Amino acid sequence: ATPVALMVGTGRGAQLGILIKGPEALEQTRTVDTVVLDKTGTLTTGAMRLRRVVAAPGEDEAEVHRVAAALEQASEHPIARAVTALPADLPGEEVPPVEGPQALAGLGVTGRVGPREALVGRARLLAERGLVVPDELAAALAAAEGEGATAVVVGWDGAARGLLVVGDELKATSAEAVERFRGLGLHPVLLTGDNERAARAVAGRLGIDDVVAGVLPEDKVATVRRLQSEGRRVAFVGDGVNDAAALATADLGLAVGTGADAAVEAGDLTLVRGDLLVAVDALRLSRRTHRTIR
Ligand code: ADP
Ligand code: MG
Repeated sequence: ATPVALMVGTGRGAQLGILIKGPEALEQTRTVDTVVLDKTGTLTTGAMRLRRVVAAPGEDEAEVHRVAAALEQASEHPIARAVTALPADLPGEEVPPVEGPQALAGLGVTGRVGPREALVGRARLLAERGLVVPDELAAALAAAEGEGATAVVVGWDGAARGLLVVGDELKATSAEAVERFRGLGLHPVLLTGDNERAARAVAGRLGIDDVVAGVLPEDKVATVRRLQSEGRRVAFVGDGVNDAAALATADLGLAVGTGADAAVEAGDLTLVRGDLLVAVDALRLSRRTHRTIR
């Protein structure tokens, strides 16, 4: 590849809404045969909306929401934006401050809210920290997942106290993008930390059969590595802090530009507006760039 041809390719990329880190990035795109897609914020808008708050028996919904909102101030996850939008939901209420918050990628957030040692996140996080989940909440969690939503559990002082049901929508162009990836001969895989039921609901609407759900951030990398060890050349598209390692490990990392800074730093290419049709363009662009070169 001549530097001039690559610069031409790079300039065209900027016009299309793709930022290209270095000329090597384009070299990788040509041989990619598998495209692994993160769900939340990548295939979906990531504009999570709060659907409802469920309190455990004896607990107060408003308190459950306030504690969750306090913790989520420390997170960049799309779920955090839905949960911290407290004033609109609870007029007159204020989000309390959080002390010593820790955002755990792909899991949730922990911290002190007033006198409470609190956490919000997936049920697995609460189980790991030894919090008891009452049967009523477990049932509400299963019901939420059954409708393709995501339920995050809120707990403090040894027990889960409630949950928040959140959900978002597919991006308008995701279905067409997946179809065009297939048209380019790329095998699509949906890879998500979200629950299996929500993942299957989204995959079904996109015609994706290959779904890996419920994974932790480190398992996203492991999935990319497994595919590579099977001889596949993998493009990974993701937006989250939890996607950074997989973006770096993939043969080609495409970061959704509207996502976390860590993702953008780890990717080879950035999709400035987060439109997956631009990812299709990126792969086509590289083929054209190489045709010019040869
Ligand atoms: P995805 O792979 O779809 O982008 P993530 O790996 O970011 O999903 O998150 C996986 C799961 O971890 C979420 O569905 C949620 O249950 C939990 N989670 C992650 N971050 C947070 C957070 N800030 N607050 C609550 N739950 C979270
Ligand atoms: Mg994501």
